[in-house]
Amino acid sequence: MIWNKEKEMLPENSKKAHQGELLKRLIRRVYDKIPFYQDRMDDAGIQPDLVSSIADIKRLPFTTKDDLRDNYPFGMFAVPMDHVTEIHTSSGTTGKPVIGGYTRGDIDVWSEVMARCLAASGTTEKDVVQNAYGYGLFTGGLGVHYGARRIGATVVPISGGNTKRQIMILQDFKSTILTCTPSYCLYLAEVGEQMGVDFSSLPLKAGNFGAEPWSNNMRKEIERRLSLLALDIYGLTEIIGPGVGNECEYKCGVHICDDHFYPEIIDPETSEVLPYGEVGELVITTLTREATPLLRYRTRDITRLIPGQCECGRTSIRMERIMGRTDDMLIVRGVNVFPSQIEEVLVNIEGVEPHYQIVLERDGALDELEIHVEMNERLISDEIKGLEQAERKIRDDIESMLGIKVGVRLVEPKTIARSEGKAKRVIDKRTL
Ligand code: ADP
Ligand code: ZN
Repeated sequence: MIWNKEKEMLPENSKKAHQGELLKRLIRRVYDKIPFYQDRMDDAGIQPDLVSSIADIKRLPFTTKDDLRDNYPFGMFAVPMDHVTEIHTSSGTTGKPVIGGYTRGDIDVWSEVMARCLAASGTTEKDVVQNAYGYGLFTGGLGVHYGARRIGATVVPISGGNTKRQIMILQDFKSTILTCTPSYCLYLAEVGEQMGVDFSSLPLKAGNFGAEPWSNNMRKEIERRLSLLALDIYGLTEIIGPGVGNECEYKCGVHICDDHFYPEIIDPETSEVLPYGEVGELVITTLTREATPLLRYRTRDITRLIPGQCECGRTSIRMERIMGRTDDMLIVRGVNVFPSQIEEVLVNIEGVEPHYQIVLERDGALDELEIHVEMNERLISDEIKGLEQAERKIRDDIESMLGIKVGVRLVEPKTIARSEGKAKRVIDKRTL
């Protein structure tokens, strides 16, 4: 379902003109209000009136996560504190958390884009949204909350954790939409199955899952076990929180709300802009953010933009499911490895669960990569031969995908820590 046909189906030309106008205003605002940007632009000899269309964006400076950390906490705010109605921080997956400020207008935009994302998975005012993203400083909980409220759905603000209660409420409140991280969703499935719940008999129909990388195979697993439509939702605190984009029912890329967030793909090494279709680092400019606007923010997330129109009728640009973040990319003996590639293989193998961890160690000069994978109860009761076969199959499949040697260790069921939010997939024991 398309929430805002006018905005989500804007013809290409009007969209470009609209984005150009917004960019012009944005440049003026950040130059006048944020000393960091004024210095950056003065140093680079960029006048705020340089921008005449969206194509000029290429000439503007980038913003990095370090820039935000250097200006912690409020150095990047473009409005006085009395206009700031809310503050959030990132989860801090990769270091000191960064801050996002919101004016009333920003919350309004957030509600709008989140309504688009939830509507894409079929949410209407008749639905009951069980929101198992964490409430608090993390943007997941409140972001979904605002979107569901904008639609007029019934929100169940259960937040993350307390998994048995989640299952109980899923049944008792007849929740139809579930929102949480994909890893937590799988854990919900596991606990529900143990409790003897038949998910196919519940009214649950769809879910928006995101906040961490996951694979298409993981999607299939979630859809099968919970018997729902599982769509990918993307976002980050620096830009707005969840709501930057969401898949539509055609599942062919995340539609970015590009009337608010302008995406580009760059080569992370040279920071050169790459043509549509090429894989690189996602860069986003917040065209409408008032409290903490960002020019060409380097997200460190790796993906590609997908050219062409989607069958759903939306004209918003699509991006491929995030492959991983540059911070998570492991370089093992010169080969780039993303945890999501390993997950893709594991989900297809009989006898193991997609609960895994990647342990990296250094043996002399060589990196050793060992993958710990949970067996399921069936495999564990198998003969030694079965275990050896499963182990070999995982190793062979991963080695042929990555082209490097890996170790595989099958571990007892339920021994890999479950997460209520973002899963921790990599344990790096190398001392570099
Ligand atoms: P962080 O996790 O960096 O502390 P946030 O809580 O703001 O900060 O989360 C944003 C990050 O989460 C994104 O930059 C991206 O790496 C990851 N993320 C969010 N949604 C998705 C998704 N659908 N697929 C993959 N990664 C995602
Ligand atoms: Zn679509």
